[in-house]
Amino acid sequence: RERERMGSKASEKPHAVCIPYPAQGHINPMLKLAKLLHYKGFHITFVNTVYNHERLLKSRGAKSLDGLPSFRFKTIPDGLPLTDANATQHIPSLCYSTSKNCLAPFRSLLSVLNSSPNSPPVTCIVADGGMTFTLDAAQELGLPEVLLKTHSACGFLCYLHYAHLIEKGLTPLKDATYLTNGYLDTVIDWIPGIRSIRLRDIPTFIRTTDPDDIMLKYLAVEMERAQRASAIVINTFDALEHDVLEELSRLLPPVYSIGSLHLQLNQIPADNDLKSIGSNLWSEEPECLEWLDSKAPNSVIYVNFGSITVMKDEQLIEFAWGLANSNITFLWVIRPDLVAGKLAVLPPEFVEETKGRSMLASWCSQEQVLNHPAVGGFLTHSGWNSTIESVCAGVPMICWPFFADQQTNCRFCCKEWGIGMEIDGDVKRNYIEGLARKLMEGKEGKEMRKKAMEWKKLAEEAITAPNGSSFLNLDELVNQKLLSPK
Ligand code: UDP
Repeated sequence: RERERMGSKASEKPHAVCIPYPAQGHINPMLKLAKLLHYKGFHITFVNTVYNHERLLKSRGAKSLDGLPSFRFKTIPDGLPLTDANATQHIPSLCYSTSKNCLAPFRSLLSVLNSSPNSPPVTCIVADGGMTFTLDAAQELGLPEVLLKTHSACGFLCYLHYAHLIEKGLTPLKDATYLTNGYLDTVIDWIPGIRSIRLRDIPTFIRTTDPDDIMLKYLAVEMERAQRASAIVINTFDALEHDVLEELSRLLPPVYSIGSLHLQLNQIPADNDLKSIGSNLWSEEPECLEWLDSKAPNSVIYVNFGSITVMKDEQLIEFAWGLANSNITFLWVIRPDLVAGKLAVLPPEFVEETKGRSMLASWCSQEQVLNHPAVGGFLTHSGWNSTIESVCAGVPMICWPFFADQQTNCRFCCKEWGIGMEIDGDVKRNYIEGLARKLMEGKEGKEMRKKAMEWKKLAEEAITAPNGSSFLNLDELVNQKLLSPK
């Protein structure tokens, strides 16, 4: 019926051009939103960078990503020199390059799409919140543009206050000693919507001494430009971040919390062609799930630091022995580029010692892993996708935030939502061992698991209840913002 309402002929379909920021944690939620829009009757063009397109093909062992005539993939260059490295690119360079170089090829792509006989004219743009150069192209064509923010609402609200942090002289830091002299413990209690956090919980790009820092400048532009969007979409749900979302709604164009996107997607009977379109930049190892099948409920701690985090060799070793000494069964996903500057290798004694109660892999289907009954805890870097996926699976976390909004997510997990324990300070094996035991076997962990199950229920209700906030918001977004001219 949806299709009928929107017009069954290809020429009558609305056409959304979806363009993620070119990193794994942004491509995943954008692809989900694109699939939801496709289900709602849109023709989709999904725009990857050339670099990531090649990686997606490689990780799937495929020649093309296109599964359906009404869901096509296109590419634009990211403006960085082409390398064949199989790793996440340097984030500040990527931010700088996309914001300076991508508008022209994006414009050309829109013009090609608009003159193509194989697709209906472009009717709206759905861009990542970090790709706001696209607003210029949308404006030139008189198209509505929706920005998808793939980080938490709490992280986003902090980014919006970067300008105030600069005004108040709290950033840039006077000198590098401010990173370690207790200054980052300064309490910030003046952000409406956030009760009280410390400077160290604010997204990490304030930890610079350079007033011309690329990320500070880039974020200032992105936040200002967000005001020009037709709407802003966030992959969170109202019950989880209510106060923050209210405050964002006061500051910005209409804000729609439509998360979690993966729960939304689970609701739709997507056809197989669409289901088979994936966004993994690394090849998935399905053996992880088979291995989990042989484990008792809630007995496994899942360890994964996402797609960008890097650590020192010493930290890898401390994590390893912490896990080994805890005697807890674990699934540890170690990207080949997890250790900065060299291949991540674990000591053979560690592998020997944990044989039978450990599984090591280099990439997995994280949503499936988190939803497996055997998984009872998640040692994470607190990336927003990982956090919301864990919330929706009812899995409590040990948080080791690396950068960006991960520090804010960690703070909210630990202090607001009651589902996280922070690794505060250096990574030391005894400390990791203690936390892992506390989470998996202790009273505190048990309470957190209970709390996490309550959040899971609320996350599901946001999608499946008759008045589910995320379900209604997605519907309203589509009907009022994406289907109406600007
Ligand atoms: N992911 C995955 N398999 C892995 C590691 C990560 O599918 O082995 C997915 C994960 O489910 C999430 C994304 O990659 O959707 C990582 O995003 P997140 O925001 O958590 O962290 P980032 O990688 O951006 O630091």
